[in-house]
Amino acid sequence: MNEEELYLKWVRRVEALEREGIIKSKKVKEAFLKVPRYKFVPEESAQWSHVDEPLPIPAGQTVSAPHMVAIMLELAELEEGMKVLEVGTGSGWNAALIAEIVRTDVYTIERIPELVEFARKNLKRVGYEGIVHVIPGDGTKGFPPEAPYDRIIVTAGAPKVPEPLVEQLKPGGKLLIPVGSYHLWQELLEVVKLDEKGRRRIINHGGVAFVPLVGEHGW
Ligand code: SAM
Repeated sequence: MNEEELYLKWVRRVEALEREGIIKSKKVKEAFLKVPRYKFVPEESAQWSHVDEPLPIPAGQTVSAPHMVAIMLELAELEEGMKVLEVGTGSGWNAALIAEIVRTDVYTIERIPELVEFARKNLKRVGYEGIVHVIPGDGTKGFPPEAPYDRIIVTAGAPKVPEPLVEQLKPGGKLLIPVGSYHLWQELLEVVKLDEKGRRRIINHGGVAFVPLVGEHGW
């Protein structure tokens, strides 16, 4: 499939997500159209990148399904200029989408060195080098040098909400994180930090399926 065919199929996927009410906002739609998933998957998978399912990336990990990424980006209510930390860089696709919306630097942490390299290569090719900062390490501890954040988006499933992530949010900031079992089933939680004391409101957005968040405050 050539680039034109890949893009046409991608546009159809984006339109379908909009029809289904999953993509709701102009900014998420525009980011999806600007940053197609096929640019972030291994070459042999590009032909499947418009399909609304997760796809394999190196090191046995996955890039999430388009609907899942859209749901999280809509819930994040990102605004231009917001400071965002993503935990679980994977391919770099979600981080690039975030950068398209906030139009400023984005920080993203990945624990698997092979994926740090994979994501950096993808992001450089697509033009996000120097904008999306891929940090190697354990994202369950957050990334204190750039804290506090307006939003923290975790794209792997945790056993519980990692406290360092709540600590590194601004008051009024929010954390999106799948919390549940190791093997695939979690609930997508929206944790809104209410004040400096760390009081919070938690909204459960229902069942999701992510690879495990492995680290000091994870599995
Ligand atoms: N957001 C990614 C994308 O756009 O391609 C997909 C993320 S994939 C579903 C989950 C990722 O989280 C994997 O790459 C995995 O290695 C990473 N991960 C798991 N535990 C982590 C941790 N403690 N810190 C950072 N990354 C972690």
